[in-house]
Amino acid sequence: MQEIKEFNKIFVANWKLNGSFAFINAFLRDIKIDFTNQNKACIIICPPYPYVKDLKSENFFKGAQDCSIYSKGAFTGEISSEILKDLDCNFCIIGHSERRNLFNEENKQIYQKVSNCLNSKIIPILCVGETLEQKKKYQTKEILTEQIKKGIPSESNNEKLIIAYEPIWAIGTGLTPSVEDIDEIHNFIKKDISGFENYKVIYGGSVNSSNSKKILAIGNVDGVLVGGASINIEEFNKIIAS
Ligand code: PEP
Repeated sequence: MQEIKEFNKIFVANWKLNGSFAFINAFLRDIKIDFTNQNKACIIICPPYPYVKDLKSENFFKGAQDCSIYSKGAFTGEISSEILKDLDCNFCIIGHSERRNLFNEENKQIYQKVSNCLNSKIIPILCVGETLEQKKKYQTKEILTEQIKKGIPSESNNEKLIIAYEPIWAIGTGLTPSVEDIDEIHNFIKKDISGFENYKVIYGGSVNSSNSKKILAIGNVDGVLVGGASINIEEFNKIIAS
């Protein structure tokens, strides 16, 4: 399993349902990763499954956007964590809000997927976050506690799993919480939810090159998960340089 504690900042690119061979060629040609930067960064690129194999580079790790709850057998169309390991995936996003909302994934399935990843020595990036309605009702901490407690198996620890705090109302909307709010929530996840102390917690939701610096400067933020801006290579280069 990849060691994550050695990294100061983690950058995850979630390409969602985007990409092509032409885009991958341009990405590999134009991505700029500055290894002279003293802040050791862990860069994880998550393309759609079929492109995982072609995205080869010593400069970043490969991740998937999801995996099956099943390990093998008659489950047409599914991709297991073991297959991902075979494709050199070290990381896998689990429980993204688009999976929870559009594909009806619940904490039970998410727990199974996280568990499968851990068994395959893949680091799950577990996404948690509240809706705008839940935020307005001051339910954010309750929702996050439930998603974290129900999604993370006991065999996990803070070196085996990354938590991504992604307020659903901030994903793809151009809206972001204030710096104070992000700080408070990351602090809550790291210090107040018992059993999950000191996990690496990254932020996701409308991160771009104009706000990445100030988000990454928050002490409790261990990195960012970038959706839309990660398929704009110039934009993504600026984010990983921040
Ligand atoms: C995401 O896909 O998890 C995400 C945060 O998207 P965006 O950066 O586009 O808001």
